[in-house]
This record gives sequence, structure tokens and C-alpha cells, in this order.
Amino acid sequence: MDQIDIVKRVEEFFWINSAYKPTLDLKSLTYTLDHVLEADARLNRFRTYLKNAFPETAPMDGLIESPLAVINHMRDSIYPSAAAGFDMRLFLKCDSHLPIAGSVKARGGIYTVLKHAESIAIEEGLLKDGDSYELFDSAEFRQFFSEKKIAVGSTGNLGLSIGIMSARLGFKVTVHMSADAKQWKKDLLRSKGVEVIEYESDYSKAVEEGRKLSAQDENSFFVDDENSVDLFLGYSVAALRLKKQLDEFGIEISKESPLFLYLPCGVGGAPGGIAYGAKLLWGENVHCFFAEPTHSPCMLVGMMTGLHDKISVQDLGIDNITAADGLAVGRPSGFIGHIMEPLLSGIYTIDDSRLFDLLKKLADTENLWLEPSALAGIFGPSQLLFTSEGAEYIRVHDLENSIKKGTHLAWATGGSLVPKEIMEEYYLKG
Ligand SMILES: *Cc1c(COP(=O)(O)O)cnc(C)c1O
Repeated sequence: MDQIDIVKRVEEFFWINSAYKPTLDLKSLTYTLDHVLEADARLNRFRTYLKNAFPETAPMDGLIESPLAVINHMRDSIYPSAAAGFDMRLFLKCDSHLPIAGSVKARGGIYTVLKHAESIAIEEGLLKDGDSYELFDSAEFRQFFSEKKIAVGSTGNLGLSIGIMSARLGFKVTVHMSADAKQWKKDLLRSKGVEVIEYESDYSKAVEEGRKLSAQDENSFFVDDENSVDLFLGYSVAALRLKKQLDEFGIEISKESPLFLYLPCGVGGAPGGIAYGAKLLWGENVHCFFAEPTHSPCMLVGMMTGLHDKISVQDLGIDNITAADGLAVGRPSGFIGHIMEPLLSGIYTIDDSRLFDLLKKLADTENLWLEPSALAGIFGPSQLLFTSEGAEYIRVHDLENSIKKGTHLAWATGGSLVPKEIMEEYYLKG
């Protein structure tokens, strides 16, 4: 059967990207390691501000970073090693526990707001070379930002990240929320003085309306999730941080010991930025896979047809309705799709019921609590190990031996802000 028919029937599917070029000359790419390092340096400049403005970041001296967890109990419950035939290393990157916003959006979103704040403060003459960034917490800065606006369209978590950060700096901030957005996310934002506008349609519409309204006001900065280079670079910094954490585990990524990354994907910015940073660091020794819900496979559809943002899942009769609200996106970012074309190894889809099943298992085995979207990555290793497409990928890339010694890492993208009652409902569904 045609691949696209399987996707249309919303069945789980593993797509290998035939345009993937493992030995691509990374120096030919538009964004280089210097861009990533510059973004990292900017976040470092803000640490003196962040550790005061958000005391939960003080223990890490203003660094917004998440733990890297070994999840052997989970591994053994879903991949009995006897059956799998080997003892792979399975890690969980717990962005679910990132400070401030409790999701992967705390990387790109907060970076984007800070960069904007820095640039207008410099333009205004408020911030000069050598000034301490603690100034961002002063009455003078807050007064200046209170005359400026920030807007964003979101399924929930980007709104939380942009909203919380912007409001703390003093900006007037508006979040355009799609129908998927959970009530508690809207309530939390409103409690912080954020204006929340609700739409009955999906994410693409919320972004479109937000973009339109913001464009009419020259005082307003729109964080464009579909096209933002700043978001992308903010996310990419994750790879530098991950390298340090792997070093601490004594793991060096190489041909003999490759890294497999499994990244939940909505519009594509977060997984795209993270994968891009990883590619810059590890080249052909990192294999990046995106994960999408069977009902919202927008990046899959965009990449497999080559149409990117010129096609939506609705165009194929797919409803874009999923409990994985962070991934409920019907049309992918064309910006990310094009960038990822030679860099991405593949994309798999996952059924909602399996997300809940994994959610419960992870809670039971590791006492780690994630939101449904964030479980999509954990299903990754089984794609490579137990499907014919996976076997073919392993053969073509000569991974028969190294996959056993490799490091498999599922990116857990959100969860720590989910209210307890709602988390209990999720758990019971599993
Ligand atoms: C936003 C989000 C993602 C995916 O990020 P995109 O930039 O939309 O691709 C994954 N998981 C969660 C929980 C998210 O909020």
C-alpha cells in the first residue's frame, strides 16, 4: 500500500527519510555552531537576572536546564532485554522539569523574549556595555517594557513560556490559544496578568490571527512559532547542555557509540532546533527521529510529500484531534521542514492510547510524571528494533553492532506544571 494511505488511515507508521544525508558538510549550513554558541552566551548574560526573578533557577545560578535521567526500570518494562537481545542505554531528557515553564518551550520561548528585551533595551540606551543584567529587574526597565507588547499563538505550552517570561519583565502580553489548549494553562496565564484570547479552531488559525493583530501595532512583537530563527536557536542550545551531561556519564558519542534522539514534534521548532544543534556537534554519529500523534502527523506529511507548509493533515482528511495537546498541529513549519530535509533520519507516528499507556508505565516504574505529548519519544527505540523499516535503516547505516552500544535518548517535553487532578486522570486512562 502507498505510504500516504497508511498515514491517512491514522495507523502507526515509521517513515525513513530518503533525503537524509549522513555525511553532509555541516559547514555549508546557514546556521553554524557560532550561532548556537552566541545564543548560549546570551542566556548566560541573563543568569544574574534570572536567578533573582525566578528563584527556582537559583540553585543552578540562573541556568534553565533539566536533568538527564537513566530510566532502566522503564526500559526493562517496555523492552525486556532478553527479547531485544541486548542491553541498550535508555535516557530521558527531562524538559518536563525545566524551571519557569515546565516544558521544552522554556528553552526557545524564554530565549526569544530575553533576546527581544535585550535588543530594545540597547536600542533605547537603557542597557550599555558592561551593565549588569540585574537591571532588567529594575523599576525603570519594567516601566519601559510596560509600554511594549508581545504576542504569540500557541496550543498551550509556548503561551505559558512566552507569557510567564514576558509578564515578569513587565511587557503587555497577549497569548492566542487554539481550541486544544487546556483550561488550566489559560487560567495560570490569566493569574499572571496575561491576556488570553481563545479560538475555537486549531493552532494554525490562532497563529494566523495573532500574527495579523500584532502586525497592526508597531509596538507589538510577535513570536512567530512557524518561522522564528530565535526560537530555533534558543532550542538548539540544548545540544551543548546535553553534551556536558553525557560527558558526566562518561559517554562519548562516536561511530562505535552513536546517539539516537527521539523528539516529539508539533510545528517542528523545538525538535528541529534540538536536532540541529546535535547534528552540529555529532554529525553522522547522531540519528534524529521525530515523533508525532497519528492524528496530527503534520511534519511527516510535509516532509514525505516535499510540500512542507503547503500541505496540512486536514488536506488529507485527518482530523488533527489528539490528547497530545503540545503536538496538536495540522500544518508544519516550512522553515524547519526545509532545514531538516538532509538532517532528519525519520519520523514515526504514535497512537494516543499508547501515550497514556507509556505515561502510566513511566509513573509506575520511575515515578516520573509527564504530559501525554512528552511520552511520544519513549516509543522510539522500538521503531528501530522491531520494524522492517528500522531493520533497513540499521543495515543501510551499518549500525548492526553499534546500536547495541549506542545511547538512546527520549526527549520528555513537558509535564511538571500539570495540576495533580489532571495528571491523575491521565494516569487512570493508562
Ligand atoms: C511544543 C511541544 C512540543 C513540540 O514542539 P514544536 O516546536 O511545536 O514542534 C513537544 N512536546 C510538548 C509538550 C510541547 O509543548
